[in-house]
Amino acid sequence: MDGSRATRSPLDARLAVELERLRETNLYRTRRAVSGPHGVELVVDGKRCVNFCSNDYLGLAADARVAEAARDALRRAGTGSGAAALVSGFNEEHARLEQALAQAVGRQRALLFGSGWAANLGVLRALLGRDDLLVADELNHASLIDGGRLSGARYVRVPHRDVAAFADALTLSRDAKQTIVATDGVFSMDGDLAPIAELSALCVRSGATLLVDDAHGFMLRDAPAAEIYVATLGKALGCAGAFVAGSEMLIEYLIQRARSWVFSTAPPPAIAAAARQALSIARSEPERRAKLLANIARFRTGAAQFGIALPAQQEPTPIQPLILGDQARALTASRKLFERGFWVAAIRPPTVPRGTARLRITLSAAHTASQIDELLQALSDSLS
Ligand SMILES: *Cc1c(COP(=O)(O)O)cnc(C)c1O
Repeated sequence: MDGSRATRSPLDARLAVELERLRETNLYRTRRAVSGPHGVELVVDGKRCVNFCSNDYLGLAADARVAEAARDALRRAGTGSGAAALVSGFNEEHARLEQALAQAVGRQRALLFGSGWAANLGVLRALLGRDDLLVADELNHASLIDGGRLSGARYVRVPHRDVAAFADALTLSRDAKQTIVATDGVFSMDGDLAPIAELSALCVRSGATLLVDDAHGFMLRDAPAAEIYVATLGKALGCAGAFVAGSEMLIEYLIQRARSWVFSTAPPPAIAAAARQALSIARSEPERRAKLLANIARFRTGAAQFGIALPAQQEPTPIQPLILGDQARALTASRKLFERGFWVAAIRPPTVPRGTARLRITLSAAHTASQIDELLQALSDSLS
């Protein structure tokens, strides 16, 4: 950055080469800082724009009632939890949220983690070891991939949503002590759905356990029947954190053995209070889901009219990928949209496979019809 090569440490010199390579291949990434709340309309770099790349699907991230629940808990409980939950960091706000989450997804218990990343690492490392097998969809979230690697289990990566390939891989479970089949419920970069019913049946037949990471489905669709259910609180609930839900036994075991939970400071009580409020709003205001579905339909119908090709969807999800292939093309389209006041991030490798760089457009219940129509016009102009 400062250019004075002579003073660079050996590490910085190596990193400079690597960073230059990323720049040359259009894979360099930067951030834009938002001022104020992260709602659908926001201010970024001093400029107002409409956000079409957030995971705030129900429009709760900037909801005043959720913020008030956090403020109220801050007044009562302060900021930090001060320690891991097994030491002295477990607050009654955490306990209340865990109960509400377990009830919302129809499981015996839930365990609150600091993030979805921590939840997936914690669960896989706790349940799997060297004599075990993990069968995983190739497009699973990076945290499931890293959790699987960290566990030391034999890792079989299966072609995307290929039930026959899952069945094949599961023949290896005969040689394993324990087998887990892991899949995203709604795939984060494609918006398509895992074949949960088929995978469930395969698991029953082979004595394997199904883990579904429902980060993008939680509170938008019924929680899938999976023995291990993982979801995050930072997406549709607009807060932060994650949870694992399942049997009493599963949760008690994770409390003993999930290292990313045991050795990590419990989240602030206020964030648990906020998430419980967001959960309650999401459940009591089904019109948010209805509005989201209407927005998805409006976007897809409009895209078809403009000749913008989106992949077919078995069922509507808020994730609408516009695959452009080349990363330079995706970056250019994203920049043009931003100039028109629309924020749609370009998603590039390694987040998505090589040659599938894309605009990942996401819809929210908080978008208006005219915002969607204007985005479509801008998209059509930016792609031509
Ligand atoms: C976002 C996401 C995660 C990570 O959750 P965080 O709480 O953001 O760490 C895990 N899995 C999937 C499928 C996700 O989309």
